[in-house]
Amino acid sequence: MKRIRIAIDGPAGAGKSSVSRLVADKLGYEYIDTGAIYRCLALLMNDTVKLEDAQGIKALLKDFDVSFRIVEGVNRVYVNGHDVTGYIRTEKVSMLASSVSALPFVRDALLAMQKKYAAKGGVVMEGRDIGTVIMPEAELKIFLTASPEKRAGRRMLDLKAKGAEMSFEKLVEEIKKRDEQDAGRKVAPLKKADDAILVDNTNIDLVKTADLIVKYANEREISS
Ligand code: C5P
Repeated sequence: MKRIRIAIDGPAGAGKSSVSRLVADKLGYEYIDTGAIYRCLALLMNDTVKLEDAQGIKALLKDFDVSFRIVEGVNRVYVNGHDVTGYIRTEKVSMLASSVSALPFVRDALLAMQKKYAAKGGVVMEGRDIGTVIMPEAELKIFLTASPEKRAGRRMLDLKAKGAEMSFEKLVEEIKKRDEQDAGRKVAPLKKADDAILVDNTNIDLVKTADLIVKYANEREISS
């Protein structure tokens, strides 16, 4: 059976990471979280390199290497060899990642790195522009979404599990703001590829969502 490429795009909090992990595990595929790449850049910027400082951002991109490794069931993220898994999921990093990812030179610089991950096949890659820009030739494309309230609810559970707190209303507000920013930008905006399958998981859990995608994948593995 052919090992295919699977692109999973969608807005923040749709469950892309959990679902992509489950799908990759079931199929024995590699899992690539492209949002983590933008988050790593935002983390390196920290409070020292501002969004307006193109030269400073370009300097960070010169020596920028992101890698992933599953350790005891956790997808650990490394930037330039340092494990940053515990630092890249804060709301501050989320918003800065969304802002910095809208800069065309940033997207250009990170394109080759992401295309390289896609080259071999047998990969589940998730993000915002995977089906439209990074892997337009993917055999299976999914656009995963859910209502903003459902997505904020999931983020709240994630945060609680990590010992952080944030009000539900504030989370809905931030999710809507990030959606607007991601869908409204000029370069590689968040949008469904014409040939992507729309999956709305407002009323189905993440395991069932993954099962559905595995079913689509099995059909594609056989027919390609
Ligand atoms: O998916 P995640 O929430 O980790 O992504 C963080 C931010 O990175 C998103 O809000 C989005 O602006 C950006 N991103 C992107 N393109 C991708 C993946 C993420 O612009 N392929």
